Amino acid sequence: MGKSFDYDTIIIGGGAAGITAALSLAKAKKKVAIVEAGRLGGANLNYRDVPYHAAQNFAHTYAEAMAGVKFGITSTNLRYNYPTALRVQLRAVTRAGEKFGKKALEAEGITCISGLAHFVSANEISVRRRLPAVPTAAEAKAGTDGKTLTAARFLIATGSIPKVSEITGLSEAKHYTPENALRMEKLPKSMLVIGGGPSGVELAEYFASLGVKVVIVELSERLLPREDEEVGQIMSAYLEKKLGVKILTKTRAVAVQGDTISSKVTLARNGQEKSVRVECIVAAVGSKPNTDLGLENAGVKFDNKGIYVEKTLQTTAKNIYAAGDVVGGDSATELANYEAGVAAANMLGRNKTTVNYDGFMRTIDTNPQVATVGMTEDDLMKRDLKYNKAMLPLSAVSAAITSDFKLGFVKLLSNSQGKILGAMMMAPDAAANLQEVALCVRHGLSVVEVASTPHINGEWGELIRLAAKKLI
Ligand SMILES: Cc1cc2nc3c(=O)[nH]c(=O)nc-3n(C[C@H](O)[C@H](O)[C@H](O)COP(=O)(O)OP(=O)(O)OC[C@H]3O[C@@H](n4cnc5c(N)ncnc54)[C@H](O)[C@@H]3O)c2cc1C
Repeated sequence: MGKSFDYDTIIIGGGAAGITAALSLAKAKKKVAIVEAGRLGGANLNYRDVPYHAAQNFAHTYAEAMAGVKFGITSTNLRYNYPTALRVQLRAVTRAGEKFGKKALEAEGITCISGLAHFVSANEISVRRRLPAVPTAAEAKAGTDGKTLTAARFLIATGSIPKVSEITGLSEAKHYTPENALRMEKLPKSMLVIGGGPSGVELAEYFASLGVKVVIVELSERLLPREDEEVGQIMSAYLEKKLGVKILTKTRAVAVQGDTISSKVTLARNGQEKSVRVECIVAAVGSKPNTDLGLENAGVKFDNKGIYVEKTLQTTAKNIYAAGDVVGGDSATELANYEAGVAAANMLGRNKTTVNYDGFMRTIDTNPQVATVGMTEDDLMKRDLKYNKAMLPLSAVSAAITSDFKLGFVKLLSNSQGKILGAMMMAPDAAANLQEVALCVRHGLSVVEVASTPHINGEWGELIRLAAKKLI
């Protein structure tokens, strides 16, 4: 490290990517600091993955308990206690936070600095404290005055933030985003979810299974438009028939008029307008890379899709790297951790490691769960690539008979040499079952290898072997 710098590396953002990189660099005995404006652990621990998994665990357990009726399990007072479920969710967040909190990171030799970082130049940032909404007298006295810090290298790991919807009147009306919707203290009677992507669908399932009357509006012609057609169709059937969700596709929410009790939302479809009145609105319109930190001052180029990076994750400023949601592309914690590892290896001076995105999975945590790896059929058709396809319904294996679960399928795609190009599964535990296809996609394995690998009889994973067999 040049003597004139405060740190060898400063990492901006203490989420999944920031913490992973900090741990690698500290292990290599570098002098590292993380600057975090909010809570260490970032979105994954505090607002997204951990609270979502805890909340979905609650809602799915409740749904299973209700479904016990088919076995003759009855109870006259089976009900849930929402405040207790909320406390369980918050406890999960606290426990996860302890693992990656200030104390744990400082024990690894990482300095944790609280504040909002802004580049002054390619080697210098200013860090300002953020005042809470209602500051204590001491906090108000301390003010937001910042300090400047210097480093030989920086890693930008500032993640993504919910997109602001441009619906007239929405910002003035009370509404939630996917990052705070699971924390509402009282369940509403009715809810409009704007956006039928992964977060919108997960939230609709969660609230509907707790008894909230949910309406989803989605601009595209189907829910989950990023996935192949069958996923949206089956998801709509599940949400509508099992949970009573009303789904309005090809529909745009155009205006909101809210009062203290409810909101009237104007919806437009095919040039015609109608309105719905709901107690609560969740705007699940996607996320955007968080690039508001003076990148221009450091010579780091970016656009609305994220920070421009080389395959080594180096930005347009040679001493600055970026990883995680801020570089755009798919948003997943595993991906953020992986990129952080690549960036850290390159910052340690080797600059030889390049990213390989093959085999990263994306999931939608409903029941049935949706998991996709590699190319989808839509991707292949858009690129005009030839492929073979095997698609099986869940009823092809005995797990569907013993569990009485039929909503879903597996789809396996291969090229003419049998190499696996991608797969999609909609089933209970789809992500765990599709893990073997992730291995195939990343390491170029073929349908022969999958078909000749023993799979446990009676489990959902058997579907993947049967699909591979069809492609030989
Ligand atoms: C609703 C939802 C649910 C999700 N669930 C899952 C899931 O189940 N599994 C999964 O793999 N992925 C999930 N994801 C995606 C996953 O949460 C993200 O990909 C991951 O958190 C990205 O990590 P990151 O480190 O890039 O950013 P973040 O975790 O967002 O961390 C960035 C940090 O930077 C800080 N920061 C920002 N600007 C500054 C600044 N100027 N100065 C200092 N600090 C700053 C922020 O406060 C934040 O803590 C979900 C996403 C959403 C929207």
